[in-house]
Amino acid sequence: MERSERLKKIPPYLFAEISRKIDAAKKAGKDVISLGIGDPDMPTPHHVVETLCNAAHEPKNHRYPDYAGLLEFRQAVAGWYKRRHNVALNPEKEVLALIGAKEASLHLAMSFTNLGDYNLVPDPAYTTYKTSTIFADGVPHYMPLLEKNGFLPDLNAIPKEVVKKTKILFINYPNNPTGAVATPEFFKEVIDFGKDNKLIVCNDNPYGETTYDGYKAPSFLEFKGAMDIGVEFNSLSKPYNMTGWRIGMAVGNADIIGAMAISKNNNDSGVFNAVQYAAINALNSPDSEIDRLNAVYQKRRDLVVDALNSIGLKVKKPKATFYIWAPVPKGHTSQSFAAKVFDEAGVVITPGNGYGKYGEGFVRISITVPDARLKEAMERMRKVRV
Ligand SMILES: *Cc1c(COP(=O)(O)O)cnc(C)c1O
Repeated sequence: MERSERLKKIPPYLFAEISRKIDAAKKAGKDVISLGIGDPDMPTPHHVVETLCNAAHEPKNHRYPDYAGLLEFRQAVAGWYKRRHNVALNPEKEVLALIGAKEASLHLAMSFTNLGDYNLVPDPAYTTYKTSTIFADGVPHYMPLLEKNGFLPDLNAIPKEVVKKTKILFINYPNNPTGAVATPEFFKEVIDFGKDNKLIVCNDNPYGETTYDGYKAPSFLEFKGAMDIGVEFNSLSKPYNMTGWRIGMAVGNADIIGAMAISKNNNDSGVFNAVQYAAINALNSPDSEIDRLNAVYQKRRDLVVDALNSIGLKVKKPKATFYIWAPVPKGHTSQSFAAKVFDEAGVVITPGNGYGKYGEGFVRISITVPDARLKEAMERMRKVRV
């Protein structure tokens, strides 16, 4: 079958080769520890699971959900944004329930990007900003995230002709994969840039609650003018250990949210009501639950950074996310170093070039494995000769 031109532009699944190697090693009886995926290992809070179970017994929840999400869910999201970020949202117009934040970029691109329009996409980055642009027949223009700029894009380096034909600027802070956080000045610059050039700014913010050392990551919507031109994607996946549940939210400018809702209504039928009730319970739970998870991740972060420094990789402690973005030793590429660590230590880490060409020279290490396994992984990595 002849595939569509747009599907042909979607790059091959970047970790296919790694998955093949892991499977082969496991078959050969090797004890493989994967630090490859950012997926919380700790369980969803018990009270959230209980709410799901109770709500699942209610026949009224067995029918199609309200497409935009239960009003109670959208109100809980608004309450959470007020409490966590001091952002005021109208639950009826400025909040949309999602089957996880992952689908949001597609609805945004489908709603605003025309054939041949550019979307500005960070490099390295999570893949959906690029792929959703391609699915919408747009063209990704990559913004390098360089260490010397604190992994923030240089907006002045984007050619004027590109900016003129741009519909959406995607950013993602706190950042996956680099662990970088944005300064307030950067968010202000982005808002001015969006206003001056009449484009939509989208901050993908699933790591906004996963922060360390007392750092609080702002929502992009906290800054003046952001609501005029922007949206933020958020999710229960990371702060409440709910990746498998598939629930998140898009919030921000009412026109943009309304347009995304049309794309969504025509492609899916919303989130299971029982999952929404469970999510309401999570959003209303004490913030100390998030603090408790962050304390666990912070200890793990310190363990990994210390181990990497002891083998000669110069790594700084990230203030947020559960990723360590480490430069590879001299003489190595991202791929060759990840392969060496896998062969000698049985530890899976991801080569940075999998996130874009400017990820070359780095590897990403995720700390979402139980403490004992992470310790074991670091003991093995300390023995790798670099
Ligand atoms: C995990 C992640 C998401 C997806 O979150 P879901 O709500 O589980 O779909 C989106 N963006 C980034 C950058 C992520 O790391």
